[in-house]
Amino acid sequence: MAPIGFPQANLRRRKDNMAVAAASRPGTVRWPWRFWTRQLVWAAVDFVFPPRCAGCGRPGQRFCAACRSEVTPLRPPFCEGCGYPVRQAGLCRQCQSGAESLRSLAGVRSAAFFEGPLRQAIHQLKYQRDVILADSLAGLMSAAEPGSAPAGSLVVPVPLAPARLAARGYNQAGLLARTYADLRGLRIAPRGAVRVRQTESQVGLSARQRRLNVAGAFAAEVGIVAGERIVLVDDVCTTGATLDACAEALLAAGAAQVWGLTLARARLADLRADALLKPAGGGY
Ligand SMILES: [Zn+2]
Ligand SMILES: [Zn+2]
Repeated sequence: MAPIGFPQANLRRRKDNMAVAAASRPGTVRWPWRFWTRQLVWAAVDFVFPPRCAGCGRPGQRFCAACRSEVTPLRPPFCEGCGYPVRQAGLCRQCQSGAESLRSLAGVRSAAFFEGPLRQAIHQLKYQRDVILADSLAGLMSAAEPGSAPAGSLVVPVPLAPARLAARGYNQAGLLARTYADLRGLRIAPRGAVRVRQTESQVGLSARQRRLNVAGAFAAEVGIVAGERIVLVDDVCTTGATLDACAEALLAAGAAQVWGLTLARARLADLRADALLKPAGGGY
C-alpha cells in the first residue's frame, strides 16, 4: 500500500535504513546532516509521487522488505586474486584458470550478487533516473562492507566519461559513494578520479578484452589523493578490470592503497554467458 502521509513514509524509511546500518558496525556509523536532509526531501517527494519498489514493482517503498530479504550479503572467504566469494580460501576458478588477477587494488568487496531484485534495482538506478533509490541501495552496501576500509579512508567514485555523464545527468557510482561516505562518516572526493578517454561498453568482452578496453582510461589528481587510503566505489563489479584500471591511476597519483567496493558482483557463470553476447551500448 502506498504511503499516505509524510510522517509514515519517513518513519518507515528511517527504520529500514537504521536497521541496515546498525548491522554493519555499531558504534561507528554516523548520521551526518546531509544524509538526513536528503531523507526529508525524499519523503516530501514520496508524499507527492508515491514510489514503487525497484525490485518487484509493488507500491509503497523504493526497495521493499521482501526484495531486501532476497539480497544475500556476500560472505568470506573471498578469492585472494579478485575478491570473488569462494568456498575455501585461495583462488576462484577464474583466477585458477590463468585469468589475470587484479594488479592495483588491495582487494574488492561487493554487497551481493548481481541478480534478482538487486539487479532490477540497479538497472532502475542507472537507466530510469531513479536517483533517490541510491540512498536505499547504498545502505545495503554499507551494511555488507566487511570493514576492510580503514578509518579515515577517502571515498572516490569510479567516474563516467564526460559525454556519458552529460547524457545520463548523474553518475550512479557517485550517488552510491556519497551515501556510503555519509553512512560511514568518511570523506568523499567526487572528482578524485576522472576519465581521460571514452571507452567502449564492457558488455560482451572477455576478461582480457575488458582490461585492454579500460587501460589508461583514468587519471587522478595528486593534490586530492596523494597519501590517501581510498575506497573506490562502483555499482557493479564484473571482472574488476574497470576498478583496477582506476586504482592504477590513483596509485600513480600517490594514493597509499585502494580498495574496490561495489554494490553488486556479477556471477562467474553470468560472465561466461555475457562473453557470448555481441557488445551493446550502455553496459557496465
Ligand atoms: Zn520489492
Ligand atoms: Zn579470483
